[in-house]
Amino acid sequence: MVGGYLIDPRIRSYMPSRTPHDSYSFIGGELCLDFINTLGGMRGKETKEYLQDYNDLVNWASKAKIILPEIKDELVEGSRYRASMVKEVYQRSLEFRECLYRVLESHLEEQYPNAEDMEIINSEQTEANKHLKLVFDRGGYSWRFDERTTREDFVLWLIVHSACRLLTSDLLGYLKICGSSTCGWMFLDQSKNKSRRWCEMKTCGNRTKQKSFRTTKAI
Ligand SMILES: [Zn+2]
Repeated sequence: MVGGYLIDPRIRSYMPSRTPHDSYSFIGGELCLDFINTLGGMRGKETKEYLQDYNDLVNWASKAKIILPEIKDELVEGSRYRASMVKEVYQRSLEFRECLYRVLESHLEEQYPNAEDMEIINSEQTEANKHLKLVFDRGGYSWRFDERTTREDFVLWLIVHSACRLLTSDLLGYLKICGSSTCGWMFLDQSKNKSRRWCEMKTCGNRTKQKSFRTTKAI
């Protein structure tokens, strides 16, 4: 199942809009992967940071449809008065993003994850879990975050929860990294015969095709 980040299902099902690479893109198939993809390019080579500050993080969450519009406004408004707090949350979020990237990369390379990265993921998971509540709704029980919270790190809790869910579920078997040598975006390949190679055909797929066409032509 894609979606269901333990917030009220009436807020959203996880189907954010598709956008080209010059802005936020939501092609990962899982929230934490879309978050990883807020760094464009290839880590260790040339990269492009799409999240320059805390407000970018909130705007991204709004585009990902994981926060309510009024909560977004409150978080942005509140950030003006809590500069050091939001800076810390922003830094924690990016640190978590890079830890998660390395852990997933290790998984793809069939390597053990780095112990320090796992420490950070566990520490954020412990923090996020403090805010989960058991609720009764529509005849059943489920764990939810309070979607009306205006805590600065609310978006990070959702990302952390998504990451832990991915790491402990069968979805991990669908994880892939883009086939382009200049792109490190990750996604779940849930195509019929697991044949997806690119994050997006219209960007990396076409670029690689054009490159190989030019190379063939030159020969
Ligand atoms: Zn790509």
